[in-house]
Amino acid sequence: MINNSRILLLLSLILTLTVPGLATPTRRTLDFYFIDSEGGAATLIVTPSGESVLIDAGWADVEGRDAKRIQQAMQQAGITAIDHLVVTHYHQDHYGGVPDLSRLLPVKRFYDHGKMTAMTEDPKFAQRYGAYQEAAKNESITVRAGDTINLKTAAGTPPVKMSLVAANSHVISSKKSSVNPECGSTTPLEDTSENGRSVALLLSWGRFEFLNLADLTFNVSQRLVCPVNQIGQVDLFQVTHHGGNVANNPLLLRSFRPSVSVMINGPRKGGHPDTIKWLQEVPSFKALYQLHRNVEIPVEQNTAAAFIANLDEPDAAHMINVSVDAAKRVFTVTNGRTGESKRFNFK
Ligand SMILES: [Zn+2]
Repeated sequence: MINNSRILLLLSLILTLTVPGLATPTRRTLDFYFIDSEGGAATLIVTPSGESVLIDAGWADVEGRDAKRIQQAMQQAGITAIDHLVVTHYHQDHYGGVPDLSRLLPVKRFYDHGKMTAMTEDPKFAQRYGAYQEAAKNESITVRAGDTINLKTAAGTPPVKMSLVAANSHVISSKKSSVNPECGSTTPLEDTSENGRSVALLLSWGRFEFLNLADLTFNVSQRLVCPVNQIGQVDLFQVTHHGGNVANNPLLLRSFRPSVSVMINGPRKGGHPDTIKWLQEVPSFKALYQLHRNVEIPVEQNTAAAFIANLDEPDAAHMINVSVDAAKRVFTVTNGRTGESKRFNFK
């Protein structure tokens, strides 16, 4: 005989399964989609509460190619709007796609390193920045090093914290005092480049940490680790400046000690063999993924084919997908080309 409480339980189960919107299913993972924008940057993050953060929006394109690729990743993630769009800096490969994206779907909040009136390194700056400001309805939020972007916490899961560790050539200041033994005697030079103004962020969920410095130059980024290492070991690292060998440096990589790195290079942009080698030599190294095989260097100087999302042209725009499970303390990386997944433990 079935008692009343069992009937109620059965009824609520049927309602949950059949009435959309009655119960919001809680996601149990934090998900990353490293979207291929052919040497640009577009990283989608969906939190366990279903909130979305997009870091950069790829290139401007007559066909809106990168905006469409972002939308495809969003469909895969089951979301229809971007809650937070972080524009790391005003270079075409990072913010060029913002107007296309905002025409295609709702973007709720825009964050950047602040207003600018001119940029000597981009002769078309006024027109490009104007298009961005129009897309952001002149309501973008200026972020500073030390700021956080508040994200919702899903019931029963640790809070997701998004800290901005650098912006507009400034870095966070540390309360720690222990000196990083990796540091030598190099002195950072003054840096007025746009890459040096990149917004850099550290995202944590429980003990899991993800670091994305965008295209931050070594003059600025070394102040994050020297004389005091303010970042420490990270689980997942989006390799800086598409994997170039100037922004990246063995000192930085040994200080961040990433377990798994994702290089957002193009077939002929970034993915420098020095950076690939330096990452593989870090003692914490577990895996390096590349969005593309660098076709300008010998095949064997790239990471192994199983870790490359797009091998040869014509390009199919495969993604690298990372899903973090805080309860099990593992994260799973999937190569969109092969469908093959590998599991890694947190640090
Ligand atoms: Zn770039």
